[in-house]
Amino acid sequence: MGKVGVTTAVVCAAAAACAVTALVVRNRMRSSGKWAPVAAVVKELEERCATPVGKLRQVADAMTVEMHAGLASEGGSKLKMLISYVDNLPTGDETGLFYALDLGGTNFRVLRVQLGGKEGRVAKQEFEEVSIPPHLMVGGSDELFDFIALALAKFVASEGEDFHLPVGRQRELGFTFSFPVRQISIASGTLIKWTKGFNIDGTVGEDVVAELTRAMERQGLDMRVSALVNDTIGTLAGGRYYDNDVVAAVILGTGTNAAYVERAHAIPKWHGLLPKSGEMVINMEWGNFRSSHLPTTDYDQALDNESLNPGEQIFEKLISGMYLGEILRRVLLRLAKEASFFGDCVPPKLEVPFILRTPVMSAMHHDTSADLKVVGTKLNEVLGIPDTSLKTRKVVIQICDIIAKRGARLAAAGIVGILKKIGRDNAVKDGGRTVIAMDGGLYEHYTIFSECLQCTLKEMLGEEASSSVVVKLASDGSGIGAALLAASHSQYLQPVLS
Ligand code: ADP
Ligand code: MG
Repeated sequence: MGKVGVTTAVVCAAAAACAVTALVVRNRMRSSGKWAPVAAVVKELEERCATPVGKLRQVADAMTVEMHAGLASEGGSKLKMLISYVDNLPTGDETGLFYALDLGGTNFRVLRVQLGGKEGRVAKQEFEEVSIPPHLMVGGSDELFDFIALALAKFVASEGEDFHLPVGRQRELGFTFSFPVRQISIASGTLIKWTKGFNIDGTVGEDVVAELTRAMERQGLDMRVSALVNDTIGTLAGGRYYDNDVVAAVILGTGTNAAYVERAHAIPKWHGLLPKSGEMVINMEWGNFRSSHLPTTDYDQALDNESLNPGEQIFEKLISGMYLGEILRRVLLRLAKEASFFGDCVPPKLEVPFILRTPVMSAMHHDTSADLKVVGTKLNEVLGIPDTSLKTRKVVIQICDIIAKRGARLAAAGIVGILKKIGRDNAVKDGGRTVIAMDGGLYEHYTIFSECLQCTLKEMLGEEASSSVVVKLASDGSGIGAALLAASHSQYLQPVLS
């Protein structure tokens, strides 16, 4: 895990410098008649996307309020606050051979680890990534699970001598399944709906562990699913394994979500026995958060209206990798139409939804060349807009900046909401730490985004409190996290009598 401190002075200085550059560009635009309509659109965007710290505090408070409501009763909030049935996170003492399967996008991954306890830790680890043929993403349930079970069986067959399964034991698997699931126990849960381009007949309402188990049996693979989790819970578990102070995990990738450790008696809707640990991991499904305090624009409204899930995942539509590039496209399209930003014609490709992906936006945003060559190249390659002027390119960067920083600052406000809920938003005296495990391609690769998020946490928490809060990149914590949860929920563990 690479450690990233909450922030550095250098980062915040860079952000300030960026704001100054933006101001200079805007002032120059104002001075020229042709640019006046462009400046007006940008100014309006900037105002509507503004996230002064007072507004962020309102967002954080609203997050805390919704968390309470979602924990109080089923359906009590836009935040589902799903009970994960994970009441024990890895301690480092886990030993043995465990498998994990991570399904949640266009690829799935299979992984095995040999755990050596506190001393040996992860003695050996191997994984394989398999892409799912598109026809299986919209076919039948058995076909998809058979494909996965077959890949898993092949992977198991390649297990080398470095991995040891005690004689007479069944192999065990942690299943990371990153779709909305209503969990029934640690190792079972029914699918609420398919998302992310999957649409498979006959799985909704079914127990996905039972589906996978049947497919493994059809393949002749003797393996037990010991834990069913989503990527956020997996990241939390993987994070905790390496750092005892991890209390929450946030995913910022194609989508966004968060999970954290809650006190079991603070969950009124939980009617089961109180776990011995006194704790329960909650899967917030925070992408569905919404609040009147969120700064939204007409672009966001239109994006939501035209989306596959109007009215849902509003927070996600402001901050996650699936949408940032699309918001940028919508702003550029309006500039092209109303302010002849790219000349007399509207570039046809600019009309195509989702043509401008967030990694392209990020590449343009990070362009530090004097003539903004990367911006010019991307506009040409992706949108078919040749020969842009330096001034045009600067405006594009300014828009990237407004959109990305709004997202990053809102994500930080969400984190502060969690810290408030668990009483970790104030300075601690005993040198204790509060660690948040972060994962996802957006956070990992969009540096301006992640640095802005860190700066904003510091701004909101203040110098003293933020010195004990650490955000840590936990790349692929979720895969190993699932294997660790399979270990801590192994059928071979002796029940601990209290
Ligand atoms: P997923 O969320 O689908 O499980 P990842 O965590 O790898 O997968 O995140 C992938 C997402 O991260 C992409 O959809 C994209 O939005 C974002 N992303 C990937 N690379 C970059 C990049 N260089 N800059 C900005 N965002 C990126
Ligand atoms: Mg992922």
